[in-house]
Amino acid sequence: MSDYRIDTKCVQGGYTPGNGEPRQIPIIQSTTFKYATSEDMGKLFDLEASGYFYTRLQNPTNDMVAAKICDMEGGTAAMLTSSGQAANFYAIFNIANCGDHVVASSTIYGGTYNLFHVTMRKMGIDFTFVSPDCTDEELNAAFQPNTKAVFGETIANPALTVLDIERFAQAAHAHGVPLIIDNTFATPVNCRPFQWGCDIVTHSTTKYMDGHGAGVGGCIVDSGNFNWMAHADKFPGLCTPDDSYHGITYAEKFGQGGAFITKCTAQLMRDFGSIQSPQNAFLLNLGLESLHVRMPRHCENALAVAKFLKNHPKVSFVTYPGLEGDKYYDLAQKYMPNGTCGVVSFGFHGGRAAAETFMKHLKLAAIETHVADARTCTLHPASATHRQMNDQELLAAGITPDLVRFSCGIEDAQDLIADLEQALERV
Ligand SMILES: *Cc1c(COP(=O)(O)O)cnc(C)c1O
Repeated sequence: MSDYRIDTKCVQGGYTPGNGEPRQIPIIQSTTFKYATSEDMGKLFDLEASGYFYTRLQNPTNDMVAAKICDMEGGTAAMLTSSGQAANFYAIFNIANCGDHVVASSTIYGGTYNLFHVTMRKMGIDFTFVSPDCTDEELNAAFQPNTKAVFGETIANPALTVLDIERFAQAAHAHGVPLIIDNTFATPVNCRPFQWGCDIVTHSTTKYMDGHGAGVGGCIVDSGNFNWMAHADKFPGLCTPDDSYHGITYAEKFGQGGAFITKCTAQLMRDFGSIQSPQNAFLLNLGLESLHVRMPRHCENALAVAKFLKNHPKVSFVTYPGLEGDKYYDLAQKYMPNGTCGVVSFGFHGGRAAAETFMKHLKLAAIETHVADARTCTLHPASATHRQMNDQELLAAGITPDLVRFSCGIEDAQDLIADLEQALERV
């Protein structure tokens, strides 16, 4: 599939049935797989042969869907996880141990920030958070001798900042570590970070990829471009023998293109077991089949909504990287010339009270913590996800008390604007 364009990969990547085989990917709803001899199975356990033995580690349905996403991103290997949280945890923990350090963008998804700042710190991994707008000097100063990776989001949820991928990749590589990017909001339809020097991509497939609010899931894709062996002292887990697999050295046995995902499957899936169910992988694939058709519509609707809000007298600010004049418009044009995402955020001259009144009167847009769904949904963080914070704490988190996040679905833009208009009239 690798010679085809992204639209064709969305529809047909990952699975090519043979003569008389099912046209749709089969759901292999089986925990386990049968072998004729103990020797056959032993080879799987030694990673001497590839095959399936237990769905906690690998399942054929999941692998077909992972292969499609791998193809879409232009990578060499990929795996599905049970959630986006699991994908980001595995991507970091696969190369960073207790005593190690990671540089991360400060404007990342709140769940990821908590995972890094609270939970992974308890595991002894330290993080330095840098603004995506920091100078090269500030970025370079964040690295330590024990730094193992740099992490950021193509378009941050919900801050809607755009990462300068090339600049962050150059800094990571100058310090001998990979750049990991969460590409959830852009999707490979709008941005393929590997083209700009990123080494590993993660996804919450729960969002646009699934697209229908049907299944929670995640994915990790390796570009195969990072030379682990050239920095063997930093990455002993990949470059020295694994005692739990009879002394295999992943970077030698599976090469630059396969080492990262093989280790992540063989060690982290084996030990933590955050596998995606084959049923959910099947649903995810249905979503992927139309991702290239849905993304342009999400972006078109979001741009129409952003333009409408920008001109509305009751609206104090609009943030949308696809809108001319936005702080991140130029970076968005460079990395995502065909469109960014469907999420817009904005605020009110009337402050928090205006936001609360507005939310009460929406009819079509549903109040949800979700984003990036075929159906338009919206959230007022100050009265929902961030309600435990006072106004000062909100501002420190980059959220004003009047901020509303509006995730444009793929309905008719006129209907979305009419809903916004009537709710704004009540403010
Ligand atoms: C939602 C989200 C996650 C977490 O994904 P889950 O599938 O909810 O675990 C991670 N990163 C980004 C950018 C997200 O939007």
